[in-house]
Amino acid sequence: MSATIIDGKAYAAGLRSRIAGAVRALAGQGVTPGLAVVIVGEDPASQLYVKNKARQTVEIGMRSFEHTLPASTGEAELLDLVARLNADPAVDGILVQLPLPKGIRAERILDLVEPAKDVDGFHPVSVGRLWLDEPGFLSATPAGIIELLRRYEIGLAGMHAVVLGRSAIVGKPMAGLLLRENCTVTVCHSRTADLPAVTREADILVAAIGRPGMIGPEHVREGAVVVDVGMNRLADAAEVERLYPGDEDRRRHLASKGYILVGDVDFTRVAPKASWITPVPGGVGPLTVAMVIAGTLKASRRRQGLGGAP
Ligand code: NDP
Repeated sequence: MSATIIDGKAYAAGLRSRIAGAVRALAGQGVTPGLAVVIVGEDPASQLYVKNKARQTVEIGMRSFEHTLPASTGEAELLDLVARLNADPAVDGILVQLPLPKGIRAERILDLVEPAKDVDGFHPVSVGRLWLDEPGFLSATPAGIIELLRRYEIGLAGMHAVVLGRSAIVGKPMAGLLLRENCTVTVCHSRTADLPAVTREADILVAAIGRPGMIGPEHVREGAVVVDVGMNRLADAAEVERLYPGDEDRRRHLASKGYILVGDVDFTRVAPKASWITPVPGGVGPLTVAMVIAGTLKASRRRQGLGGAP
């Protein structure tokens, strides 16, 4: 058996065009949804992600408000900015890019975001709503994964899902959403004993650990669905060669771009064992931005007293 590849890039493009259609319809009523993105510091991966988000937001016909602040920004200044965005009627969604520099308590900043504008789903109110099965904003990456599995008609009810990673951004909300879909859910982390024995029990394995290529065939049951959330930047040629010996494609990309993005799953060795698999790049990643934009449309429609979203 060799896995069918789940094409997140294509699905995200379709989702963006559906959102653009809904945004055009809103424009007819004089409404333009707006997304504010706040980034503090110079982390190149975060800056790239934010630029991408701003570009896609504008392409879709929404307004994008970028707030790029120096790493020296203090907590009080950031709290003040979030308070202003909460009050700004042009802003429907607020996204604070994580991680924030040391010295800024991320939870204080995220807690201040108005829940009605919390398109990233990180506010305690949004997290509570997820676990109480109430409608609300959902963490974009796990929500995108559920969308993608639905699109490929991968039945979830009754499946044993194993989530690798327990972060507030990916692992925990992923577990909550899979539970909502009637999976039986196991969550693993760095203290899990005999990890391969646990992950081999999975009908659906979601890897979100941030360890390049760590998940090999020994972690995967024959015929499992494998979702790779990992987004690891490798810039060292020796490390790329050690992880992906003789992989000419990766070597070429590294030479031209100076780095490559790889997942937590050793794709080449795992794909032959899986039934479905997401690649990196082109799997889960493109969905994350599209889901944040979909959340902004939802927030805007709610503020206008309109229901529904694509
Ligand atoms: P965190 O570092 O916050 O969490 C990592 C989790 O993995 C922790 O729960 C940790 O366990 C667990 N872990 C780490 N090492 C091991 C190990 N050797 N064995 C078992 N468990 C382990 O990362 P995030 O959740 O924020 O992100 C995970 C990955 O997903 C990263 O590569 C990130 O770049 C990527 N990502 C991708 C997105 C996308 O759009 N595609 C969006 C967000 C993240 P413990 O809790 O015990 O420390």
